[in-house]
Amino acid sequence: MSPIDSKPILPGSTIGVLGSGQLGRMFAIAARRMGYRVHTLSPDEDTPTGQVADVEINAPYDDLDAVRQFAKTVSVVTFEFENVPAATAAAAAEHTLVRPSGRVLHTTQHRLREKTFLSQAGFPVTPFRRVSSFDELVSAATALGLPAILKSADFGYDGKGQYRIRSESDFQAAWQAVGQREAILEAFVDYACEISVVGARSVRGEFLHYSAAENRHANGILDISIAPARVPDSVAREAAELTHSVLEKLEVVGVLCVEFFVRKDGQLLINELAPRPHNSGHFTFDANLTSQFEQQLRAVCGLPLGAVDQLAPAAMANLLGDLWRDGEPDWPAALQVPNVKLHLYGKLEPRPGRKMGHLTALAHSTDQALEAVEFARSSLQAKRVPQMATQ
Ligand code: AMP
Repeated sequence: MSPIDSKPILPGSTIGVLGSGQLGRMFAIAARRMGYRVHTLSPDEDTPTGQVADVEINAPYDDLDAVRQFAKTVSVVTFEFENVPAATAAAAAEHTLVRPSGRVLHTTQHRLREKTFLSQAGFPVTPFRRVSSFDELVSAATALGLPAILKSADFGYDGKGQYRIRSESDFQAAWQAVGQREAILEAFVDYACEISVVGARSVRGEFLHYSAAENRHANGILDISIAPARVPDSVAREAAELTHSVLEKLEVVGVLCVEFFVRKDGQLLINELAPRPHNSGHFTFDANLTSQFEQQLRAVCGLPLGAVDQLAPAAMANLLGDLWRDGEPDWPAALQVPNVKLHLYGKLEPRPGRKMGHLTALAHSTDQALEAVEFARSSLQAKRVPQMATQ
């Protein structure tokens, strides 16, 4: 039976989520709202997803017996975390549907495979080279020129992910930073801004996308997303078309986010893919008729996709553990801004750099939404809350 002929997975069924962070939590909230049950599997306990799910299984991803057992109890397995081993997806697929497929996961969980796939398929990407030894790093840097960024090929290496190489004197430190293992060297892109598009593709190949979000990072972590992105329509349109092509080419059933660099001449380069809802799409939870999480649910259950209309311009600000440095943030202060919504992920330990929650503001314009969300976030730590007119 082809997936297209298969019956939709109806409310009342159980969905399995591999991974247990905030993406799974927001997915589980959407799924429960529509009457589904949710089981989650990850190596952790009392997790953001587990707190909302019906069942939380605590097992390492490479415990394939646990994964098989988990798969037997659910109608479909999806992901909130793409770095699960290929063998895990394969073990789940022995017993149930896996959406998106293990093949999508395999391509997107490895920077080198991902960039190679994209460039071979003709998508615009940053010039890059494979690096598997120190000598190859030196010759790749000679070929690409400096500055350049060295990134570990796989994502799962304790944050020892990336190193910006400014001059030859950085080679040793960069090679250490990626753990002296397979890596990818990318030319440094002097971009005007970064944007991302979250797209969804159904079992029948129907495609929908959200408006491009404009993303600002701080210390390599997403800080603020503004939607719609303040880029020319032609750039946003092209980003959406490229996103559609990527989902088609990978035959994604589910949700996938494409992150882009926008060069000063308006040219787009794909930086990275994430085969799941994305932090830059969190605004859709409050701002769109159907959130990225409900869309993932609909897609993986073989249901029609929901309308993606955005109800108002939006801005999202992440709340990192650093905000807890001087004690519990002043939640009522942020909530004094009435067009701001608070999301907290139920994480018990607020470590610096850890994503603990986010704020989303809706307003008449993106500039007003940005102002409101930044104001709300700054007031979390303010002793006295200044007055501000909203909207
Ligand atoms: P990544 O983990 O690849 O998404 O990179 C994290 C952030 O580092 C990106 O969002 C950019 O801000 C920056 N970055 C990554 N690769 C490049 C590049 N080739 N040129 C310039 N900035 C980059």
